[in-house]
Amino acid sequence: MLNEEIKQQLQSTIKGTIQFDEPMSRLTTIRIGGPADAIVYPENVEELQNLMKLALEQKLPVFIFGWGSNLLVRDGGIRGLVINLSRAFNEIKIVAEDEQSATIEVAAGVKIPALLDFMVKNNLAGMEYMAGIPATVGGAIWMNAGTPKGEIGNHVEAVTIVSKTGRVRSIEKKACGFSYRSSKLPAGSVVIGATLKLEKGVGDKIKTIIDKHKAHRIETQPLNVPNLGSVFKNPKKNHAGRLVEEAGLKDVRVGQARISEKHGNFIVNEGKASATDVLSLIGLVKDKVKEKFKVTLETEVKVVGTD
Ligand SMILES: Cc1cc2nc3c(=O)[nH]c(=O)nc-3n(C[C@H](O)[C@H](O)[C@H](O)COP(=O)(O)OP(=O)(O)OC[C@H]3O[C@@H](n4cnc5c(N)ncnc54)[C@H](O)[C@@H]3O)c2cc1C
Repeated sequence: MLNEEIKQQLQSTIKGTIQFDEPMSRLTTIRIGGPADAIVYPENVEELQNLMKLALEQKLPVFIFGWGSNLLVRDGGIRGLVINLSRAFNEIKIVAEDEQSATIEVAAGVKIPALLDFMVKNNLAGMEYMAGIPATVGGAIWMNAGTPKGEIGNHVEAVTIVSKTGRVRSIEKKACGFSYRSSKLPAGSVVIGATLKLEKGVGDKIKTIIDKHKAHRIETQPLNVPNLGSVFKNPKKNHAGRLVEEAGLKDVRVGQARISEKHGNFIVNEGKASATDVLSLIGLVKDKVKEKFKVTLETEVKVVGTD
């Protein structure tokens, strides 16, 4: 909980919405997570810069929240500020194009489905495989989201951030350090936008490919139950889901957290699962897979907050 003085400072720093002591379970895709001291929705870059400066002065921890689709927030919630860009950082525009390609600038709060719609409308191709990933552009870049068909980092030319100290900086692709489901963007910084390069294509064809990817996900993933996406990273030349299934763990539960019977790498919340339930289940899976296959699974989901 923040004291009254800090609450007032926050309210005078930004015009955008602030929610105090809001349960993160209302926001995360797995519907789990204790209260955040303050969730702040800055309305522009200047407000974000001022927030970062205030956080630094007041020694308030800062956590950036996208769509909450890869997050396990512990039951005690998150201390300090949770910053979300989705209410204002929503612009996409074409900034250069030739016969074969186009360069777009996209703000970090844009959701992947909106980016894909923009691609269809503007005949831009190359990122159709991102269909069905419930991410904001900021979260997708931070995590280098993707599938075996490609990852967002492949299309990045530069990323714009606001640093811990509130400075706006552009980072060239090669300094972003993209690798499998991670980036090396400066710790504590906020991605506010990116420049992406896409190919020219034909809207209807692009839409058909997007729809095919979505249909495949509906068939193979438990999308009708709250979940976190893939819990574990795929080990080299292997599939985490397959290892979990071959270890006989499908459908295993701890409390109301369960390994999905549809996909071994998904944990679902059957109603009132806690973060503690999910963490126990993750521990159990790691132990069994290690025992059976001598493989150490590494979590892809980010675990944040306090117990
Ligand atoms: C049903 C389902 C399917 C999924 N399928 C895939 C898949 O195929 N491939 C894949 O890669 N992932 C997949 N995911 C996981 C998830 O969608 C991605 O990891 C995504 O990149 C997370 O984006 P987000 O906006 O939800 O970020 P969050 O989950 O909100 O945050 C994830 C991390 O990114 C950081 N972050 C978020 N926004 C910013 C920002 N603007 N600046 C700095 N840091 C930021 C957060 O602090 C946190 O560390 C899936 C998830 C679900 C629920």
